[in-house]
Amino acid sequence: MATNPGCIVVGAGLAAANVVESLRDNGFDGSITLIGDELDRPYERPPLSKDFLQGKADRDSVFVHGQSWYTDHDITARFGDTVASIDRAAQTVTLATGDTLEYRQLVLATGSSPRRLDVPGAELAGVHTLRRIGDSEQLRAGFTDGARVVLIGAGWIGLELAAAARLAGCAVTVLEFAPLPLQRVLGDELAGYFAELHRAHQVDLRLGIGVTEIVGSGGTVTGVRAGDELFDADLVVVGVGAKPNTELAKAAGLEVDNGVLVDERLRTSDPRIWAVGDVASATNTALGRRIRVEHWDNAIRQGKLAGSVIAGGSGSFDWQPYFYTDQFDLGMEYVGYADAADQVVIRGDKSTGEFIAFWVNDGTVRAAMNVNIWDVNDDLRALTGRQIAADRLADTGIPLTEL
Ligand SMILES: Cc1cc2nc3c(=O)[nH]c(=O)nc-3n(C[C@H](O)[C@H](O)[C@H](O)COP(=O)(O)OP(=O)(O)OC[C@H]3O[C@@H](n4cnc5c(N)ncnc54)[C@H](O)[C@@H]3O)c2cc1C
Repeated sequence: MATNPGCIVVGAGLAAANVVESLRDNGFDGSITLIGDELDRPYERPPLSKDFLQGKADRDSVFVHGQSWYTDHDITARFGDTVASIDRAAQTVTLATGDTLEYRQLVLATGSSPRRLDVPGAELAGVHTLRRIGDSEQLRAGFTDGARVVLIGAGWIGLELAAAARLAGCAVTVLEFAPLPLQRVLGDELAGYFAELHRAHQVDLRLGIGVTEIVGSGGTVTGVRAGDELFDADLVVVGVGAKPNTELAKAAGLEVDNGVLVDERLRTSDPRIWAVGDVASATNTALGRRIRVEHWDNAIRQGKLAGSVIAGGSGSFDWQPYFYTDQFDLGMEYVGYADAADQVVIRGDKSTGEFIAFWVNDGTVRAAMNVNIWDVNDDLRALTGRQIAADRLADTGIPLTEL
């Protein structure tokens, strides 16, 4: 048992790395222990479906901090260790190794895991998911010229993988249950735009089709059955979303409902425990509602906020969500939150590949997306939550800063 209990951070991903950095930046002088079940120190996951997967970025470039950063900042790092349970009464965590560590403050940054597909054959060799750096390395090895790649799910990761596989010369089929890719987030018009982008790059995009079986021979995948067709495959990736890693929190009796429930300062129902990043379902004061966000920017900002709060600082979860994607020659950023927009306003001409889209509800801008137009996302962020007439939003003659 540690003689000097301080802050323990469980999970060593992007959110956790930002918690420990923020604790030290904000003058926290207690002990800090960072415990992660992966062998690597915290790294960024976006490159795993983009530049790292495509061989354009090397392994060293994905890490959040340099090798010696943790010791330099007096942080005890335990990589390759799993936290098995939390005893809230005793204020301890027990590791899978049996070691027990005492905490004064505990941060849960356990992230999320890929959802599995519940069909026969899902466990065959050659059927992958993508979450960890090793997964990306396996895909990189399998994305070879002429390989037949079947992607199940046309979400962000599925579409980024489709682009990476096509760029590697693979024959790519994407199977999606919904009538359009990304339809729930983008709505019909822009979901259609992404569908066309992929078709223009010879992705065989099959929509409104349900996978019933993954077939194989000798334990290795050979195809995917969907609808009444069999799609031949050398490699299959299941990209059907992620689920928050809430098991520890639930077993410890914390409030959990599609994520660990936290307030706007990221505190759980136990005042000594916080949750951040993909696993946290937090009260967002800008939106006036609880949300769980599975994005890079959120992991960084919530990590920084929790570190500051624990160190005695101010701040709350008061920002609009942000994310980005890169697919073929399309790069975009999206800011805001629009789960039920009644109007999508386009500024510019979609056919040029450079435009801005606004999601508007009751005359109020809820979200905006800049496609291949850069250095405008802060301006778009400033427009969210404001009432602006659609014809003004669409008018490229009015600068964004004057809307
Ligand atoms: C391939 C890929 C591409 C992405 N691309 C984008 C993008 O383009 N744009 C964007 O905005 N977002 C993107 N994201 C999402 C973004 O990476 C995540 O939102 C972010 O990684 C969340 O960080 P986190 O620290 O909350 O969780 P994670 O990164 O999942 O880290 C959690 C860590 O905790 C560990 N852990 C869990 N339980 C335990 C335990 N009991 N004991 C010890 N350790 C534990 C996990 O193994 C993991 O290492 C992408 C994600 C993936 C997988």
